[in-house]
Amino acid sequence: MSVKVISVLENILQANDQIAAENRARLDAAGVYAINLMSAPGAGKTALIEQTLRALTPQVRIGMINGDTTAASMDAERGAQAGAMAVHINTGGNCHLEAHMVRQALSALDLSTLDLLIVENVGNLVCPAGWDLGTHARVMIASVTEGDDKPYKYPSMYRAADVLILNKIDLLPYLQFNLDYYLRGVRLLKPEIQVFQVSCRTGEGISAWIDWLRECVSSKRLT
Ligand code: MG
Ligand code: ZN
Repeated sequence: MSVKVISVLENILQANDQIAAENRARLDAAGVYAINLMSAPGAGKTALIEQTLRALTPQVRIGMINGDTTAASMDAERGAQAGAMAVHINTGGNCHLEAHMVRQALSALDLSTLDLLIVENVGNLVCPAGWDLGTHARVMIASVTEGDDKPYKYPSMYRAADVLILNKIDLLPYLQFNLDYYLRGVRLLKPEIQVFQVSCRTGEGISAWIDWLRECVSSKRLT
């Protein structure tokens, strides 16, 4: 019986990967660089998006897709206020985004007017890792307030991430957070991961992340 369950899940994931590849082809054809932002709730996804929009607009034209488990669209509204073209996805209680949801949202955006697409995944440290959405990079945001043991407890997320943004580093002096222990765990899981240590509150470290992102966007632009 268990074999059947696994094959059903494999079919679902295969179908997802197929749609993700189509999403990516669509973004490539339009010259849009896309990132999938994943994190636990409260790690600072929306704050990072606001910092990013502030730094890159209007030179970089940015679209946003915000996944939430409910119809509450305040994250999308915060993005729109900061200058992005934003689409809210209500996942209907689903705890992660899937490629078909992003496909629908892509149709609501005019990709020809965009350079960068930020997909804000549902706040969840487990299953977003398993679902390719068709973006070009998976960016995980972690916060030092979550504790230095997180790579050891949620390995699949760290393995899936191409980039790690460690947020709220301004709080390090007040926490029992062993940065070496944390980073050792991260690099064990993903030796080639790109790490940015930032504080969205003070702005520390943000410029290195912005430079990296700007470089990715210009490499994807149609020439
Ligand atoms: Mg948010
Ligand atoms: Zn889920």
